[in-house]
Amino acid sequence: MKIILAGPPGSGKGTQAEILSQKLDYAHFSTGNVFRDHLARKTSIGIKANDYMKEGKLVPDDVTLQITKDFVTTNTRKGIIFDGFPRTIGQAQGLDKILTELNDKIDCVIFIELSDDEIIRRLTARRTCERCGTIYNLDFNPPKQNNICDKCGGKLLQRADDTEAVIRNRLVVYENQTKELKNYYKNSGKMHVIDAIIGRDKVQAHILKIISPQ
Ligand code: ADP
Ligand code: ZN
Repeated sequence: MKIILAGPPGSGKGTQAEILSQKLDYAHFSTGNVFRDHLARKTSIGIKANDYMKEGKLVPDDVTLQITKDFVTTNTRKGIIFDGFPRTIGQAQGLDKILTELNDKIDCVIFIELSDDEIIRRLTARRTCERCGTIYNLDFNPPKQNNICDKCGGKLLQRADDTEAVIRNRLVVYENQTKELKNYYKNSGKMHVIDAIIGRDKVQAHILKIISPQ
């Protein structure tokens, strides 16, 4: 099963993808995480991607599709959750092509939506453990000790692109790209929309209901 989780930055799609992939034992493919991992290892992909990421712009489709193809063709799990990908029509078409060549297809596309004000509120309060990657929110999911990870004792950092100015840019980019993307998937009968304001657990339950066999 191949599931796409789409949604603006801060909608919680990364958290949902993480929980879901563990529950179902699926692979979790987050293009943002893969780019950050490349950057940490200072690969040529990471250095190139960072020019775009630091301004909240999209990394060019050819680079994004290359890491996708590498991931999909080497995946051994029975399913994949695509998180934050595809974001452009070019990526959506590229993904369809990659899957078609493997005799596979997308089963389900879920858009998790949230208002801009709520997104900015959530993202400016987001902190990530530099060691294990666990995500906290200072408002509704704070660590027990200030700036220290509950799980591993690592230091909690704010992502470089989680400042209000860069977030606003990411939202404009998202808005522009998503209209097209929704049209691309709208007529497929596979598209679902969930409002994230209902909270993490209810969003998760809703997703499970959507993907469980009828
Ligand atoms: P968010 O959804 O919160 O913006 P991500 O971690 O998904 O965060 O992405 C961070 C950055 O990585 C994006 O702003 C963009 O520069 C780059 N990126 C991630 N996914 C894609 C993609 N599918 N296409 C192009 N660029 C991407
Ligand atoms: Zn940690």
